[in-house]
Amino acid sequence: MNPLLDPQRLPDFPALTPDAIAAALDEALAEHRSVVSDLVAHRPTTFAEAWLPYERADEAVGALWSAVSHLHAVADAPKLRAAYAAGQQRLVENHLSTMQNRGLYEVFAGIAASPAFTRLADEDRLSLQHAIRDFTLNGVALEPAARERFGAILVELSSLATEFSNVVLDATQAWVEHITDPARLSGISETDMAMFAAAAAARSMEGWAVTLQQPSVAAVLGFADDQALRERVYAANGTRASDQGPNAGQFDNSERIARILALRREAAELLGFSDPVAWSLETKMAASADEVLAFLRDLARRARPAAEAEMAEMQTFAAETLGIADLRPWDVSYVANKLREARFTVDEEQVRAYFPVERVMQGWKALLHRLFGITLAERDDVPLYHPDACYFDVIDASGQVVAGLYTDLFARQGKRGGAWVASARPRLHDGNVIRVPVSYLTCNFAPGQAAMPSLLRHTEIVTLLHETGHALHNMLTQVNRPSVGGTSGFEWDAIELPSQLLEDFAWDKDVLTGMSGHYLSGETLPGDLFDRMLSARRFQSGLFLLRQVEFGLFDLLIHLGVLGSDPVEVIEAVRDEVAVIRPPAWHRFPHAFMHIFAGSYASGYYSYLWAEVLAADGFDRFAEAGLVDRATGDLFRQEILARGATRPAAESFRAFRGRDADPQAMLRRNGLTTEPAQ
Ligand SMILES: [Zn+2]
Repeated sequence: MNPLLDPQRLPDFPALTPDAIAAALDEALAEHRSVVSDLVAHRPTTFAEAWLPYERADEAVGALWSAVSHLHAVADAPKLRAAYAAGQQRLVENHLSTMQNRGLYEVFAGIAASPAFTRLADEDRLSLQHAIRDFTLNGVALEPAARERFGAILVELSSLATEFSNVVLDATQAWVEHITDPARLSGISETDMAMFAAAAAARSMEGWAVTLQQPSVAAVLGFADDQALRERVYAANGTRASDQGPNAGQFDNSERIARILALRREAAELLGFSDPVAWSLETKMAASADEVLAFLRDLARRARPAAEAEMAEMQTFAAETLGIADLRPWDVSYVANKLREARFTVDEEQVRAYFPVERVMQGWKALLHRLFGITLAERDDVPLYHPDACYFDVIDASGQVVAGLYTDLFARQGKRGGAWVASARPRLHDGNVIRVPVSYLTCNFAPGQAAMPSLLRHTEIVTLLHETGHALHNMLTQVNRPSVGGTSGFEWDAIELPSQLLEDFAWDKDVLTGMSGHYLSGETLPGDLFDRMLSARRFQSGLFLLRQVEFGLFDLLIHLGVLGSDPVEVIEAVRDEVAVIRPPAWHRFPHAFMHIFAGSYASGYYSYLWAEVLAADGFDRFAEAGLVDRATGDLFRQEILARGATRPAAESFRAFRGRDADPQAMLRRNGLTTEPAQ
């Protein structure tokens, strides 16, 4: 067997050349097709004979492709990009022809209808049931012409998603502001100046280079005194991949968005759904679009008074203290930071100095040990693709390696922005072997410079913990069937439960102090600084929540089609309804909205808020037990993380909490209610 297809081995990144990728994919797909046709020809009637060979063939493909996808996301290069796009297309085609194979469907449906089915383990039954559902959602029951059309749509949608994301990356990398006069960067910290200097050096420029990578945008919009520079960066960033702004039309996603929306609608209708939202909700916890719309609008109603007061306070402060009479969108982050500093005397840069990344990661490991009894041990014998990448064995209290984790923390050229977790190898136990689950945890923190380590902002520590929640979901699973273990098959709108629950540990004094150590003096975070940070925690939470509602409503309404399908018109209509901060008419947020046009959040962006209800109430369970409490950690692990999709998320939550989620907890988390906890 080609070693790149061995699900038992970790990916051999240096061996993943475009040619090797194509050859390995040929082999994996040929094997997959032969397994499927064998099953269809022999029609086995037991789970072990039918499902396990199918799963093994799937896992061989997955072993290759998770590595290729990761590489494409973090180390993009023209040849790799082409190999990825070509392979992705073949995979989608193969997946479709499998999911539309009536013979195979009948083999699985026959087993599900047999008396022996009820005696199978939950995870075996559920994996078969999920597969049967997926066959249906992929059009297995359609007439041949419709089935073919449906398949063609999914193939096109997949390549459109890849293109959408490539174009955003290209647009992000195409813009740079070369700065030779340091006066233009007044207000920027020493740390961020070093980042700009390094970005310039990397381009063989003198002076400083401001880019559209996230840490760079955050530094300028949040801290640059020069309003004109803020405006330039805001405009370049907010018009990426669109018909507007400095690179107008050069990397334009407009047509791609229109095509994606039309195809999603056509596909949904072919399956008999009224719209793409109904199609998406079929596998989610929420029951209907109306239920989600009502949920979002209720939140908007509750958040609006707070958001309006926050905006008014900023306007007054900007006028009186900063001489900004007319608060523009590119002033908002800057003014918000100045106001936060003035009100709570929290200086972001002062805070950051206490969080060099090495120290944070030590504290992070200690937290995971205290909560779940796991130890992370770095390995130096695992093939990697970049010096920033690391690999850890995750070792249980019993000394057993239960999982693996790749981390890749810093922003760089060729790496997609944002933070995310992906599965490299799901847990698998098929009677022969037990394979432990392995995840990728990727962030985009500002890298360290020659004389200065990478210093994390508090929001970045929150991000790290968020992604850790996703990784734990994958790594601490006890489910043996990959398709229903970890986050796989889990209701998408509950998937942000572990991630958002973990976030809240970043607001505990002991936890945070344990992650701190001033990069010069080694001193831990002073108590009074933490107290001030905590008092500033809900600063502008009304505005933040309204923005999340705005994105969620936009996603839902544009897929429902009730306001038409022009993304600019729809986002403007949503803003009429809920926004307190109004971006200019030329702003093109939808054109780089990867979550819904290139990611898995289509008709599902509301999931963050939906799952926050579960996360907030779940976190309270930890707080009630004294917070970093191993018994609660074990319970959370056992009832939620370990279970994956082998039962509904609502049931797993009840098993952990002892009751349904209390929506008040989420309102309290956002400071939107004064009602005390029970
Ligand atoms: Zn998340």
